[in-house]
Amino acid sequence: MSQRPWWHWCLSVLGWANAFPLTLIVTPAILVLAVAKQVRLYRPADDGLLTLAFLIPLEVVPGSKLEKSSWRGMTCGCYALVNDRGRGLEKGWLHRTWRHEQEHVFQQYGFGVLMPVLYVMFSIIVWVFMRDKHSYFDNPFEAAARKAAGQQVVIPRDQWWDEDDRWLWW
Ligand SMILES: [Zn+2]
Repeated sequence: MSQRPWWHWCLSVLGWANAFPLTLIVTPAILVLAVAKQVRLYRPADDGLLTLAFLIPLEVVPGSKLEKSSWRGMTCGCYALVNDRGRGLEKGWLHRTWRHEQEHVFQQYGFGVLMPVLYVMFSIIVWVFMRDKHSYFDNPFEAAARKAAGQQVVIPRDQWWDEDDRWLWW
């Protein structure tokens, strides 16, 4: 960590401040989930990237109701929440997922409160105007996060979870 240039830390402080309204908005929900024993602080043993840039890493509590949901991770402000779904032994998967969510946190450091607006806007643009693309997989924020995490960047149609990502009458 000490080998990171000083200006990285300046950027992180600015980014954290920029994302602070988002962090504030979601904090009550995080606290409710924590009291309900659905999420808890994630304490990485050896994963230096997680302590980077003041990200607050949270994990879904094993055996909780939330664990049964299908999503892998989400972020808001400086919070990153990963749902391991019992895949704890697959270290590579977990690392890539954390890196992916970290990239979303960085996007929020950059765009602040505009980030959720831009995210939804891009999804709508893809959904309405780009018939051969997927509103989630081809959202540029998602593609950038997959690239940063070393995940598959281009997701072909036969790997989509929904057949054509369009209303039936389109
Ligand atoms: Zn993502």
